[in-house]
Amino acid sequence: MLLKIALPNKGRLSDEVRELFNEAGLEVKARGERALTASLGGEFEAIFVRAQDIPEFVADGAAHAGVTGWDLVSESGRELDHLMDLEFGKCRLVVAAREESGISGADDVRNGSRVASCFPRLTQAFFDKRGQKVTVVPVSGAAEIAPHLGIADIVVDLTSTGSTLKMNGLREVATVLESSARLVACGSNTPDAQRKLEELKLALGSVLAARGKRYLMANVPKSSLQQVREVLPGLNGPTVVDVLNGGNFVAVHAVVPSKTIYRTVNALKALGCEGILVTRIERLMA
Ligand code: AMP
Repeated sequence: MLLKIALPNKGRLSDEVRELFNEAGLEVKARGERALTASLGGEFEAIFVRAQDIPEFVADGAAHAGVTGWDLVSESGRELDHLMDLEFGKCRLVVAAREESGISGADDVRNGSRVASCFPRLTQAFFDKRGQKVTVVPVSGAAEIAPHLGIADIVVDLTSTGSTLKMNGLREVATVLESSARLVACGSNTPDAQRKLEELKLALGSVLAARGKRYLMANVPKSSLQQVREVLPGLNGPTVVDVLNGGNFVAVHAVVPSKTIYRTVNALKALGCEGILVTRIERLMA
């Protein structure tokens, strides 16, 4: 039997989740249009559900594992095994107040304030822990308009760039939680399921590890090798290979951060390197 992985059916995380599985060699093949399930490279079965429902599905064992936002996992209050941070869907759950409220930190929130949020549990827990007595007003979306409607004085909402808050005349005053997409699993999985999920973790991790890196190859004059080593630290130091009939040249291969490629190539040119080749890396397992 294939393990079931619950994935978001729409919304912010869904495209990136599909891309990640595809890149890991687990091609997402839906069974017909608008299908609720898909094969993941024939190795796993995806079930598509709302991101909010994924913690429940996984905790109840309807799926062996799932991918959803850490904010939603935390809000659910369900005990799940945290397998890995997938490093996308980054956002923060923040306390925000109207610009003109005079509130500049969580300490300024007065007892008796009304706080609107789609995350009522996390909001309550945040203020309880600080010993502040607030009334949480649960909403199911668009919390940022609550202060304008007179429903609440404060909101606890997700933000990544801060532009939606700003557009609504709100100022971020404290962080409740940092979130990103996570792979989580059911705590009662069998050892065999756990082993398969470890393999999945390795595959997804290798895609994440390759992001932001490039593979660089160059023919290096032997006399410059020491200086080239300093320019190219690589994963475990560059690989140096003899070139057949290479004369004074050896071939050097290294994994380089894409951010530094521009400077690295210029530095190699200046050291007399030739045949410089930069390629993308699909997956990287150290
Ligand atoms: P949505 O697609 O709006 O239902 O959001 C699904 C998940 O995407 C949220 O629960 C968060 O984990 C994540 N997310 C990432 N960035 C943001 C953002 N700026 N606003 C809201 N959610 C975000």
